[in-house]
Amino acid sequence: MDKLQFTVEGGIAVLTLDNPPVNSLGLELRAAILEGLGRANADSGAGAIVLIGSGAGFSGGADIREFGTPKAVAYPNLRTLIAEVEDNPKAVIAAIGGVCMGGGLELALGCHFRVGVPGARIALPEVKLGLLPGAGGTQRLPRLLGVEAALNLIVSGTTLPAEQLRDTPLFDAFSDGDLRAAALDFARRVISEKLPRKRVRDLTLNMPAAEAFFQFARNSVKAVAGPYPAPLACVEAVAAATEMPFDAGLKRERELFTTLMLSPESAALRHVFQAERAASKIQGVPDDTPLRPIRKVAVIGAGTMGGGTTMSLINAGLPVVLLETQQDALDRGLANIRRNYQGALRKGTLNEASLAQRLALITPTLDYATLRDVGLCIEAVFESMDVKRQVFEQLDAVLQPGAILASNTSALNLDQIANFTRRPQDVIGLHFFSPANVMRLLEVVRGAATAMDVLATAMRLAKTMNKIAVVSAVCDGFIGNRMLARYGAAAHDMIMAGALPHQVDAALQDFGMAMGPFRVGDLAGLDIGWALRKRRAAEFPGKDFSNVADALCEAGRFGQKTSAGWYCYEAGSRNPIADPKVTAIIEQYRRQRGITPREVSPAEIVARCIYALVNEGARIIEDGIAQRASDIDLVYLNGYGFPAYRGGPMFFADQTGLNKIARALQRIAVEPGSDTGAWTPALLLIRLAGQGQTFSAYKGSAQ
Ligand code: NAD
Repeated sequence: MDKLQFTVEGGIAVLTLDNPPVNSLGLELRAAILEGLGRANADSGAGAIVLIGSGAGFSGGADIREFGTPKAVAYPNLRTLIAEVEDNPKAVIAAIGGVCMGGGLELALGCHFRVGVPGARIALPEVKLGLLPGAGGTQRLPRLLGVEAALNLIVSGTTLPAEQLRDTPLFDAFSDGDLRAAALDFARRVISEKLPRKRVRDLTLNMPAAEAFFQFARNSVKAVAGPYPAPLACVEAVAAATEMPFDAGLKRERELFTTLMLSPESAALRHVFQAERAASKIQGVPDDTPLRPIRKVAVIGAGTMGGGTTMSLINAGLPVVLLETQQDALDRGLANIRRNYQGALRKGTLNEASLAQRLALITPTLDYATLRDVGLCIEAVFESMDVKRQVFEQLDAVLQPGAILASNTSALNLDQIANFTRRPQDVIGLHFFSPANVMRLLEVVRGAATAMDVLATAMRLAKTMNKIAVVSAVCDGFIGNRMLARYGAAAHDMIMAGALPHQVDAALQDFGMAMGPFRVGDLAGLDIGWALRKRRAAEFPGKDFSNVADALCEAGRFGQKTSAGWYCYEAGSRNPIADPKVTAIIEQYRRQRGITPREVSPAEIVARCIYALVNEGARIIEDGIAQRASDIDLVYLNGYGFPAYRGGPMFFADQTGLNKIARALQRIAVEPGSDTGAWTPALLLIRLAGQGQTFSAYKGSAQ
């Protein structure tokens, strides 16, 4: 039997789940377990049955790739299998080690006995995918753990170490020794003592004052669930366990599960889950590409990004040589790093001893010779090609052969930087987001010459630092900032048309964006864009780079740092206040350009700004900058505050319908005064819309 090993050991049938990496309960494994039960039942030499997992543990749960496919419901589905286990005439003992999550835990709950060991990880994490445990978990777990403890696990999706549950009725035996031996011992006891099979479904659930408890639970969950329906549905399902007979409770759980499965929020969360797994697959780079050893890293520049990057590295236990040109800059950088850890110390998520351990991993230096033995060097110096040239030439001179040279540049051409060295194949972009120790996104920029093993090593390093890495080819702004430019332009168009900054921000925040574009502008500082536009205007005479923000900057309004930008701020506060002076500046700006303002609705603001993102995203795929639409979604979800329950801009486009978006873009492109080139729908968008296709299903020509 594939996926399952069947042995009989000393009168016990042992069914070993063997479906790496986590024994997910796909159709083949489910069928194999059922077949194994039948074989054990027919074997007169087997008095009881042990279900145990090989490798990573018991089981990580359902196979999410099966969701929405015929395999998920094909016989035996998970619920049928669990019912068969529960009704099995011979006792079934679950041996729980390693992961025991989701459907895996539900299967264990269907067994007659459970034996555990320390280190096993217990969870019903379905809520994190916008679902609830749909194979009896909400009915059986409360019968073993009690309503409150079970509800907490189900609503939060948290993982508990089995040790914490060792004294609960979840476990009939708990061993500090070998799991297999302990399960076999227990099975022998079941046989010798003729222990009756215990079906969890037969346990009565007593819950005094259930109504008041669930009312309280509903209120608390509602307050934190935000736009997600799943947590409240979890409460309803557990409530059903206390209100109804077991089978009616199962039916209610099923109804709630099905509704969630069809909800856009769950579809989005499942998309994100799969997107994260897909992102590590790189075109042209086989999974088994050998990695370069990274035992020590150098960071050049101890400013905002160098400091945050250093923290990410030492948090992951990697020693860092931190280089600056001046002692005072180095001291400032180290002091900032220490200060940034204060919050964690105050919150108690870090103690002095582990902070000292981390800081001890940093070797500050002013001398390039110290970098000789590093495996990777990440440059985070000023954003100037001349400075990058100086740094990369020096790195090329001192770094050992095979060392990886990474640049944190946001907007400079990586291929040009790579050519400052005699080893462009070793050069890569690692575009962190600020604050680099907090933000999970990392754009891994693949230069024209970047070697496969350099890319593969960078992706592994990202994982070590707990980052979500997305590969981008070289272009102006890479994936995220290239799209952001179009989004910002669309928001600016809305101001020109008649909206005010707070109206645009409110519309996009209501859509779910963490922060509207004008609030973000004030936070980042308006002077940066102003300087950039002035540079561009000098570079491309005759092209119009003007922006209302120029008028704000001319009035000394640089954003939060000057307590005035698109909004005004009270001293020491980051709370934006709509400012009549800004309205006056905008009105004057419109008048100078002969624009008569019109009514702009929140729906129009959202459509234009988000469709602008989608259109640029489509071009980014078309140009081969991103490998797949779901990578773009990850960039927007993890770096730009796009709401997870909408799955990212490209997934949102799929849900909205590409045809609808293409038609809207076509209309905007031909409006008087419109930037026709920018608004014309991307060819890929038109093509997919015409075929009734989605970005998610599009595999691209190169894949
Ligand atoms: P920053 O001004 O805060 O820090 C730059 C540091 O580099 C300074 O401490 C400076 O003393 C040091 N430095 C300058 N020349 C040097 C040299 N020759 N050798 C060693 N050190 C040198 O700048 P930052 O915001 O940290 O940006 C650094 C890089 O990261 C830039 O390329 C920038 O585009 C990129 N980046 C910035 C952000 C952001 O939000 N700030 C985000 C992503 C990427």
